[in-house]
Amino acid sequence: MTTGKINVSVENIFPLIKKFLYSDHEIFLRELISNATDATLKLKHLASIGESKSEYGNPIIEVKIDKEGKKLHIIDQGLGMSAEEVEKYINQIAFSGAEEFLEKYKDSAKDSGVIGHFGLGFYSAFMVASKVELITKSHTDAPAAHWTCDGSPEFTLVSSDKTTRGTEIILHIAEDSLEFLEESKIGGLLSKYNKFMPIPIKFGTKTEQLPLPEGAEKDAKPEEIEVDNIINNPNPAWTKLPTELTDADYKSFYREMYPMQFEEPLFHIHLNVDYPFNLTGILYFPKLSSDMQMQKDKIQLYQNQVYVTDNVEGIVPEFLTMLKGVIDSPDIPLNVSRSYLQADGNVKKISNYITKKVADKLKSLITENREDFEKKWNDIKIVLEYGMLSEPKFYEKSAAFTLYPTVDDTYFTLEELKEKVKDTQTDKNGKLVVLYASNKEAQHSYIAAAKDKGYQVLLLDSPIVSHLIQKLESDNENLTFVRVDGDAIDKLIEKEETQISKLSDEETETLKTAIEAVVPKEKYSVQLEAMDSNAAPFMITQPEFMRRMKEMSQSGGGGGMFGMGNFPEMYNLIVNSNSEFATSLLNTKDETVKANLVKQALDLAKLSQGLLKGEELTAFVKRSFETIK
Ligand code: ADP
Ligand code: MG
Repeated sequence: MTTGKINVSVENIFPLIKKFLYSDHEIFLRELISNATDATLKLKHLASIGESKSEYGNPIIEVKIDKEGKKLHIIDQGLGMSAEEVEKYINQIAFSGAEEFLEKYKDSAKDSGVIGHFGLGFYSAFMVASKVELITKSHTDAPAAHWTCDGSPEFTLVSSDKTTRGTEIILHIAEDSLEFLEESKIGGLLSKYNKFMPIPIKFGTKTEQLPLPEGAEKDAKPEEIEVDNIINNPNPAWTKLPTELTDADYKSFYREMYPMQFEEPLFHIHLNVDYPFNLTGILYFPKLSSDMQMQKDKIQLYQNQVYVTDNVEGIVPEFLTMLKGVIDSPDIPLNVSRSYLQADGNVKKISNYITKKVADKLKSLITENREDFEKKWNDIKIVLEYGMLSEPKFYEKSAAFTLYPTVDDTYFTLEELKEKVKDTQTDKNGKLVVLYASNKEAQHSYIAAAKDKGYQVLLLDSPIVSHLIQKLESDNENLTFVRVDGDAIDKLIEKEETQISKLSDEETETLKTAIEAVVPKEKYSVQLEAMDSNAAPFMITQPEFMRRMKEMSQSGGGGGMFGMGNFPEMYNLIVNSNSEFATSLLNTKDETVKANLVKQALDLAKLSQGLLKGEELTAFVKRSFETIK
């Protein structure tokens, strides 16, 4: 038997790193700026605990393009490295100086904001560079060092005459990556990944006009000066405490993140946890718009102020992906992958935390300013209704802030509504009957009839409302929802109105038979009801059950659930036997005239329900003109 070690040669690994470490070549810049930031934050920390004699000052990071020399420079004023440190940290692939630092200064450095993790970031430079130089001067007395490597495992390390503290990385951009010498390309990357990093980043200069001195001539030109062009905001709102921020601060941060959004956000939620995971952030409820361009602005994920991704699937519960804003967590690594997220227990906890936090915020909003919350309701309801259906934890808390508006814009919580209708809207089994309309225009006549009776009619018009109603009913045994044009409203009316029928039982039967002879019976079930004589003579209602099955089968997508794509149309035709029309129909002897009267009345009932269309509508209009000739 032979045992031994498989020989892993660096020659083989180096090209692999180059090729597969990161799928996106552009992240090399994020990695190098993260290292420069780490170097600066480490120095800051050492200075604060008295372990560095160097004057910290106001360090910045500079990114410089040398187009002719085909070079990109990243220069920091951080803690730098001695030659020994370069050997240790740079020459050892997969040895993270960042982790070592955090380990060494454990408790005190916990909040220093150091980004690095895996000790691989530096080598991402070789994805775009054919040669990398590193010139560095430590904050200690150690002399400066100059390291060079052309992408093969050989490197050179010599001394350098650099006197200023910090590190300069020079990338000799490879022929296939020349785009990274374009100002617009680098500018775009900086604003994507580094917009909120904690150390100021300089990219070029800009001219600024000095204010005119007092008493200057009217047409005097203001003096112009060259200043550093700092591309980032090192102190974004989410890193501050909610108590340090005003409403205006939150709004201006929203504009900073989304300069193309003209609508103000409806409200914000400031996230701040440090146990059992670290997370800060600000989420905004936007005014939903149909503009596709705006839907592109998504929640952004950061790690210690470094942009990671705007794919927050799994981290933010699905119903909140319409929100905007930022989430920052040091517990999320820079190179998040799908499989990592699914495997990570923290991620599910983060999602639950966000759900809870959003529910709490909604509750406090409605408690603090009910009127304002009511005004915003229509803009947020779709998101919330979707949340109630998809997140049980959110649903549990939702009763506190879910509103049910009436057709006249009065807003009830479910509890308030139950209290309001408990004496007036019960069916014969004692169940509370909640009446609702889904379309104020189309159901106008039914709404008017119900309001006449003193009923409350809700306006529930969002696309998923039938699913929500189903859920509310299954959770509230004593509650049943009925659309105003549904059949149960007849029962409600029937129970309440003890109208005496003007017709005898025999006459009622005769009338019913006469009507059934004319209307297609596979489509209408004719029911005679003794109602107020002023109520409409013919009314069409749709059995609540039928309509819901139909709606569900439509919103279920594809061919509809249970293959109910072609669900039959079934309606009730309610005939008011106390109406004058019923009496005159009964007294009409001529069968043709009688049939025409029934047809006309049926068409009128259909018309008021929006059911009269196409050929039928044309025939109806023609027939109606005939009668008024
Ligand atoms: P990580 O950042 O995960 O530690 P990197 O490969 O990005 O791994 O960097 C390796 C190490 O090299 C860092 O931890 C740090 O010690 C050192 N380093 C890299 N860039 C700099 C820099 N600009 N200044 C000082 N040290 C640096
Ligand atoms: Mg790094």
